[in-house]
Amino acid sequence: MKTFPIVRKLLEAVTILDRKNRVMRNNHVQEAKPNKKVRSLIEIDLRIEGKGQGVPNRQCSAIDGARTDIDTVQQLPKFEFQPAWMRGKEFWDTNFEKRYLQRRALWPKFPLKVILMPHSHNDPGWLKTFEEYYYHKTSKILTSMVEKLQQHKNMTFVWAEVSYLAMWYERAHPKMREQLKQLLKSGRLEIVSGGWVMTDEANVHLYGMITQFIEGHQWLKDNLGLKPSNGWSIDPFGHGSTVPYLLKESGITNTVIQRIHYAWKQWLAEKQWGDFMWRQNWDHSGETDVLTHNRPYDIYSIKHSCGPHPQICLNYDFRKVFGEYTEYSIRAVNIDQKNVKEKAETLLDQYGRTGSLFSHNVVLVPLGDDFRYEYSSEWDQQYKNYQKLLDWVNEHPSYHAEIKWGTLNDYFREVKKRTKTYPTLKGDFFVYSDIFTDGRPAYWSGYFSTRPYFKILGRQLETTLNAAEFLYAWSWATFAKTRHKKIAQILEKDFEKLVKARRHISLFQHHDAITGTSKSYVMHDYAIKLHEGIREASIVISHCSLALLSTEATRMKVSQRQSSLDFLQPLYERSSYEKLPKIMPINMKEWQRVITMTNTLGQRRYEVLRIIVSSLNIKITDEFGYDVPFQVNPIWNSSNSDFFIVENQFELFFIADLPPLSIITYTLHKTANETSTIYSNFYRNKNITFFQVKDVLPGDIQLESDLLKLLFDGSSGLIRSVTDKTTGRITQLTMKYGAYPSAQFKSGAYLLKPDPNAREPEEDVLAGAKPRIFIQSGPYFILN
Ligand SMILES: [Zn+2]
Repeated sequence: MKTFPIVRKLLEAVTILDRKNRVMRNNHVQEAKPNKKVRSLIEIDLRIEGKGQGVPNRQCSAIDGARTDIDTVQQLPKFEFQPAWMRGKEFWDTNFEKRYLQRRALWPKFPLKVILMPHSHNDPGWLKTFEEYYYHKTSKILTSMVEKLQQHKNMTFVWAEVSYLAMWYERAHPKMREQLKQLLKSGRLEIVSGGWVMTDEANVHLYGMITQFIEGHQWLKDNLGLKPSNGWSIDPFGHGSTVPYLLKESGITNTVIQRIHYAWKQWLAEKQWGDFMWRQNWDHSGETDVLTHNRPYDIYSIKHSCGPHPQICLNYDFRKVFGEYTEYSIRAVNIDQKNVKEKAETLLDQYGRTGSLFSHNVVLVPLGDDFRYEYSSEWDQQYKNYQKLLDWVNEHPSYHAEIKWGTLNDYFREVKKRTKTYPTLKGDFFVYSDIFTDGRPAYWSGYFSTRPYFKILGRQLETTLNAAEFLYAWSWATFAKTRHKKIAQILEKDFEKLVKARRHISLFQHHDAITGTSKSYVMHDYAIKLHEGIREASIVISHCSLALLSTEATRMKVSQRQSSLDFLQPLYERSSYEKLPKIMPINMKEWQRVITMTNTLGQRRYEVLRIIVSSLNIKITDEFGYDVPFQVNPIWNSSNSDFFIVENQFELFFIADLPPLSIITYTLHKTANETSTIYSNFYRNKNITFFQVKDVLPGDIQLESDLLKLLFDGSSGLIRSVTDKTTGRITQLTMKYGAYPSAQFKSGAYLLKPDPNAREPEEDVLAGAKPRIFIQSGPYFILN
């Protein structure tokens, strides 16, 4: 990638700043002593820098990377990204064909083994909401799954989305539940991955990903007494190494992936490395290895599953629904005595070709697609036709091939019988690109930034839920077995709120939810759920904090129903998800107000807290009664054409010192007046007495701390240079905001595709904007 000098400089500056920040954070963790008086960030940093200790080495010497056969970071740049075969959409060429024929000659001694695995991919929301899909499609699929697997005694099936399974199970007749359990016990039905959803692997945070796994696995354990042993991740748009790691940690040793770059597909097929051990970057012993099967072709539909030639595979999708006209329903003909030989042999050729892409000659053939098998007729159509093909092949030993119904368990068992060692791989499979839609590369990087507002909302629920879970565990351990039965009862009831919030955030990890690729009204539905989760988790936080902070006397009052656990208010108010969180002003009519904060992390944190107060006659003390320094800033209102300072409301900033795993209180007291300074080139109302207003001098603006000097352009407000005061080094910067015009009809929620004909990005998207500059300064920081 070509980097422009400006961008390089900007990156350099960002790196320097980031290093500084990390030094500051690091020093706080290691150097700061438990103190009664909060020091400013800059003070502490100066202390370290002044002694000339410089940047500490944060690199752990024990981590020098896993040794593997494949390192995706090294390998990816070596690929040909516009290969000659791209236009034809199939990588299969004469070399592949030649190798297949050589392999075929070996079948008498090394027979082909095929596992047919019916499946249905059920998105928990996409074109319809989670609930709509459930009532229109998925409930029928699950019901007919149980019924039809009774009828077709050797047929198999796999199911992935526990969110749907749980919904169905909770409504199912006890007899149906029992039948489901029997099918699982027999091994003909397998729950794969066991996640609440099939998680996205790019936008998600580790916390959300783990939560959806725990929610799914816990449900399976509690209700069905089972633990999944194979992973199945076939629709996320690119694969990361975290999902296999989490699977391994939960006891799963094998997994399947699907959507990876077409160059990877071709290369793994050429090397016969489609089954590999996926290892974590730090792992020297191989303990994190997960046997990973890459589906060799483009997607998971029947058209792209039987072999390298989709036009042939199309003939083997036997679904025929009255009134439904699709490319397969027109092509596929039912199998009968007359055509069975020819049809079976053509199919076997495809399976054989697939087998030649692997060293072991075992082939996994998924039979399904999105929301398949919702009609009982499809079960019969697929089963009866495939059974005839399967019987024909199995009854003719001269083919040296065996086809069986099976699940992932069966596939991996067969593979392991024939293979003991696998190539090892570290790294990931981002970014995903396909060529099968129009024979040209389509890079799926658009969803990394699609609908960012919803992505942020998800993170907000995660952080709220994390605090709620921490406080809940602490409270439950404190009160479950005490005489304060009323508190325990409240907590017991609150568990439902936690579960609701967990399920909402779990649902949102789905690969069409957090990605932003669902229909707009479906996104709205997710957001309502996320907002509800935030509300429920906040109530849990409030109850638990009060219970933990209360005195014995207060607890007794709660027990005797003379008091409640409901009077702690969240700092933020949000009436709907569409509104930004609003900080609730703290009314200082009373002499004292208490602020409660939680640190759920295992390390000390210094956080700048912003609150809004109704008076400037204020002081803050920490839990030991020591005064805490703070800064007061005005609140600017821009609702009219002009900016003005809001009266009787002020922003108050202070640095909260939060020990690891703690609840801390700070107290606001009514006291004498404080003033602050504002420099403004447009704010003319000098009548206010609580802030000193001075003119911003003409020319560029310089702001500095003990570490850095920053120069901003006086007219645009954009940064011009950064001076590192410790080294004297000056980094010049130029900032421009540009926008890429999109390629027509190609760029959207999934793909980021700038117009290939536009040579330069559109520049000056801020042209004409006239920023108004004001500077607020105080003991902690300067706000520009
Ligand atoms: Zn999907």
